[in-house]
Amino acid sequence: MIEKTLVLIKPDGVQRGLVGEIISRFERATLKIIAMKMVYADKDIAGRHYADDEAWLLSVGEKAKKSQEADGHAVKETPMQIGQRVRRQLMDYITMSPTVALVVEGHAAVRLVRKIVGGTSPHHAEPGTIRGDYSPDSYQLSDSSGRPIQNLIHASGDPTEAAREIKVWFTDKELHAYKRVDEDLIYRMGGQ
Ligand code: ADP
Ligand code: MG
Repeated sequence: MIEKTLVLIKPDGVQRGLVGEIISRFERATLKIIAMKMVYADKDIAGRHYADDEAWLLSVGEKAKKSQEADGHAVKETPMQIGQRVRRQLMDYITMSPTVALVVEGHAAVRLVRKIVGGTSPHHAEPGTIRGDYSPDSYQLSDSSGRPIQNLIHASGDPTEAAREIKVWFTDKELHAYKRVDEDLIYRMGGQ
């Protein structure tokens, strides 16, 4: 199934000069860039992207608690408290300097992008992934510094999230249709 997904190169990725390196990883993995721009996000766009959604806040908190406890660190906050704190921190992070926003398209693009990006905590992300290769950040380090985990990239978590998030950053007119020269080979029908 051909899917579209949203990728943000967050302010730390742009400030560290990793835009070209990050984009080339997606391009080389056959993902087609169908929209791209640099945005200095304001509170409105940040608040719509990191929506005040109970299920998402809980999932952020539960993931953090589980990972911290697996590493032997006691967690005092409830998952909801973690989620709400992280959302406030993310609003400051995503508005601190420009972000590069892209929509990429390809076979099972949501999963493929998440695989290339790696896990939420760079400290635990596999080597070879963008987060695993380029960021040393962890729940521990970010908590003790009073900021969110700086993990260079945002990538939509599932196709429903992707459809919602693409609309936050792009109009329909900004999504372009064209053909990559390798598409005939990648998506060719049986026979030869
Ligand atoms: P992902 O970006 O891997 O989909 P989430 O959607 O769970 O991760 O969280 C959104 C972002 O919030 C993360 O990319 C990270 O920057 C930040 N974050 C998540 N959990 C925490 C936490 N416990 N402490 C600090 N920052 C966090
Ligand atoms: Mg997410």
